[in-house]
Amino acid sequence: MTSPAAKSQHLPAGDAAPWQRAATGANLLSPDGTLGVTIFEEMTTLAVSTGAINLGQGFPDEDGPAEMKAAAQAAITAGANQYAPGKGIPELREAVSAHQQRFYRLAPDPHSEVVITTGATEAIAASLLAFIQPGDEVLTFEPFYDSYGAIIGLAGGVHVTAPLLAPDFMPDMDRLEAAFSSRTRVVMLNNPHNPTGAVFPREVLSRIVELADKHDALIVSDEVYEHLTFGVRHIPIATLPGAAERTITISSAGKTFSFTGWKIGWLSGPERLVAAIRTVKQFLSYSSGTPFQGAVALGLGLPDSFYEETAATLQHKRDILAAGLREAGLGVYLPQGTYFINVDTAPLGISDAVELARKLPHLVGVAAIPVPVFCHAEGAERTRSLLRFAFCKQQGVLEEAASRLAGLRDKL
Ligand code: PMP
Ligand code: GLN
Repeated sequence: MTSPAAKSQHLPAGDAAPWQRAATGANLLSPDGTLGVTIFEEMTTLAVSTGAINLGQGFPDEDGPAEMKAAAQAAITAGANQYAPGKGIPELREAVSAHQQRFYRLAPDPHSEVVITTGATEAIAASLLAFIQPGDEVLTFEPFYDSYGAIIGLAGGVHVTAPLLAPDFMPDMDRLEAAFSSRTRVVMLNNPHNPTGAVFPREVLSRIVELADKHDALIVSDEVYEHLTFGVRHIPIATLPGAAERTITISSAGKTFSFTGWKIGWLSGPERLVAAIRTVKQFLSYSSGTPFQGAVALGLGLPDSFYEETAATLQHKRDILAAGLREAGLGVYLPQGTYFINVDTAPLGISDAVELARKLPHLVGVAAIPVPVFCHAEGAERTRSLLRFAFCKQQGVLEEAASRLAGLRDKL
């Protein structure tokens, strides 16, 4: 399938790397018939084969709370091993609702306004597939998380982007406004934002709500990094006046609790929208990992101190890696949220971050993700020398990575 989105980016599917085709939603079958892989898989495979420290794909190298692991083990032993209800077990839907109430004063009805999904990835896919008809426009910021481009393409949508600009990766508000049209069906927001680490302030979110209202667009807000912010508070867009009725909010246990492998996510929003997404979800996975659901409900009930300590620990790790990257001569953009830090490699004379990312594990034994892969052509040009490093790793690992990167200058 060649999607309208793929056409609009002038990427010849045959010549493009698999992740480029994924970013455009084009067919992931390579010309030679093998299956394509995402940039995360490509870089993790490279890290494993070279023995490099993997600061590419974002996953923690330590597990989350022991009591959650014990709860999942106990659930398996107790026989929670068959299909869960399609929309998720009641305890977890109630815990999601209580969490939204505790942190944000949102109160989705756990019976009709919450659905448990197979990670945020499925929540994103089911939402976009539920709302987009072929030819509808979907607006995202750029850079954008890779699955947005792929799913928009699979749904036959047209992917329109508005740039985020260094150094703080806030949107160009004029370009944001200009990106809306009468065909905008969905604004796919990501806040805090992967890969840039931006956390959007109230003014930006208000403008998005105004524009979505003006164009009668829905908002799908991916907030998987909601608790990973440093010195700023995450504001769910659904809490803004006029937003709740048109917004689906998505999150996941992967980031908040460091259990990326459990693949438990959730979404909440108005009943009529949630019902449409639930219909699609039935045919994607039907239901999601039964024994993990009670354990995630337990996690969502952990005291505020858990959430505060998680963010504080991560902020400390951010600062360790940032210092090392500066020391290595790279231009560092300090993130306000997520566990990703972006650097400009241009001060080292590098102009192609994709090429560098492929060489970096061989050169210094560290893997990273090139930012242009999260972009269409214009954004790729703007971000051509940027690399993304993940800092959700143990302190010693980050220090070792920093000391290896200090030697990069001499190896170029
Ligand atoms: N959205 C964003 C912005 C992400 O970075 C990720 C990756 N962790 C996901 C969604 C996917 O989340 P999950 O692993 O829960 O499917
Ligand atoms: N979200 C993670 C990242 O951005 C990776 C998830 C994946 O491999 N798809 O690095």
